[in-house]
Amino acid sequence: MRGLMWFRRDLRLADQPALSAACTECDQVIPLFVFDDPLLQSKEFGAACVNFMLGSLRELATSLEARGLALQWRRGDPVEEVVRAARDWKADVVYWNRDYEPRAILRDQLVQRELERMGLIVRTFKDHVVFEPQDIRGVSGEPLQRYSAYRARWWAQWSTHKPRALPVPAALRSSKQAMGLPSSPLPSAEELGYASFDPWIEPGEQQAWKRLRWFCEGPLHRYGTGRNIPGIEGSSKLSPHFRFGTISPRAAILAALKTLRKGRAGVSRPDVFLWIDELIWREFFQQILAEFPHVISGPFRREVAPPVREPGHERDRLFQAWCEGKTGYPIVDAGMRQLRQTGWMHNRVRMIVASFLVKDLRIDWQSGERYFMAHLLDADVAANNGNWQWCASTGTDAMKGYRIFNPTLQGKKFDPDGLYIRRYVPALASVPTANIHEPHLMALSEQEEARCRIGVDYPAPIVDHRQAREDYLRLSTQKRTP
Ligand SMILES: Cc1cc2nc3c(=O)[nH]c(=O)nc-3n(C[C@H](O)[C@H](O)[C@H](O)COP(=O)(O)OP(=O)(O)OC[C@H]3O[C@@H](n4cnc5c(N)ncnc54)[C@H](O)[C@@H]3O)c2cc1C
Repeated sequence: MRGLMWFRRDLRLADQPALSAACTECDQVIPLFVFDDPLLQSKEFGAACVNFMLGSLRELATSLEARGLALQWRRGDPVEEVVRAARDWKADVVYWNRDYEPRAILRDQLVQRELERMGLIVRTFKDHVVFEPQDIRGVSGEPLQRYSAYRARWWAQWSTHKPRALPVPAALRSSKQAMGLPSSPLPSAEELGYASFDPWIEPGEQQAWKRLRWFCEGPLHRYGTGRNIPGIEGSSKLSPHFRFGTISPRAAILAALKTLRKGRAGVSRPDVFLWIDELIWREFFQQILAEFPHVISGPFRREVAPPVREPGHERDRLFQAWCEGKTGYPIVDAGMRQLRQTGWMHNRVRMIVASFLVKDLRIDWQSGERYFMAHLLDADVAANNGNWQWCASTGTDAMKGYRIFNPTLQGKKFDPDGLYIRRYVPALASVPTANIHEPHLMALSEQEEARCRIGVDYPAPIVDHRQAREDYLRLSTQKRTP
């Protein structure tokens, strides 16, 4: 039997359910990747994300090559290309791992329908999450809308099912798998219409494992405090790897739990479980997107509409300042500059900049959501949408719009010495720690001494937070009162 293995957001060999099944069930396996031209042309994702994907694909191609399989790739509309590839290579079965984004669900339905019409077998697998939306339900079978309930159910399922990770398929090493198809070099980012960008987090399956090992040996055991400090290596930075499936969430969770079983000194149970909770958040948002696809185009809670300023020059000026990291709030500016320079931003800072955009600047959260998608290495529809809605208080969170981060206090609390700010806003590098979160309060002589003239080297605050907060609350209240 000949199998076509369609790689998508699962660019790895280990714990790869579709690949394992293909290698076990077929005499010949053809690995395929399709560059989705319409999606690439839409520029929904940016150069950082595309270059990370390409780097991961290159490593996958090398790993397959070492086992005698040439990764085939095509470019175009995925529905047409997969069907054509299956026909050209006379496949009997087509394998893939499932995706839960509404447009991916639609795409996969179309491919499946066409392949089955041609008499081919389609085999799909759970992979991208530990538990699929239908695995985690409330007592009457309803999808869960609160994270706390979802989390409790998730852990109950984990205890019952005790998930395991699959090894790299042994059958992959057998020469009978290869079909002798030639390999051709993958396209460059430029050929796909994107600038080349050296990913700040190294792509590929081997790097994912290296990063996971580094994290489990160190930062994991201080995660509770470390994860909130943007100036240190406190979190795993595995998000682009989970996004492109260069490592599976099962393998990562099992590795984290293993550090507890090893019982090393300094191993902290609460820290390990807190980290796994973040991966449960990831699955929660996948589930929300799959079950409530209206979140793509509007608020999860349809009745909520945060107040937004009128379109026009002022709104555009403020949005531009936010994008460029020129708001005059150092922690916001450091975050936005980190994003532009590296394609990544620390989670605490993502929350601060999102709150600032929606609540201080009163700009619609969808503009921020789109900007993040176009710049993040880990750009993921479900995680990005779920988090933006959380920050805009339109999402699943019970809190009704009154969580407004004070960017200055957040900066003082989580970057007290300004380590992170100084790294990404060089104009503030010599500002004394006492002024680092409010440089505009420096006297002229202090500005001269710090070589940071407000309004010249670094902007004054574009809004007054206290006033902006009051305005937001007043306008929110007005909106809610009929
Ligand atoms: C406004 C906003 C937009 C975001 N957009 C994205 C996005 O497009 N893609 C993305 O992967 N994450 C997004 N996040 C979530 C979070 O910021 C990143 O997942 C996290 O910063 C990644 O860093 P890490 O890998 O070091 O995480 P760790 O702290 O090591 O956590 C481990 C993993 O858990 C998952 N995770 C952690 N926090 C969250 C969360 N709040 N929601 C969902 N999953 C989480 C990630 O896969 C992460 O790699 C966003 C958060 C905010 C506030």
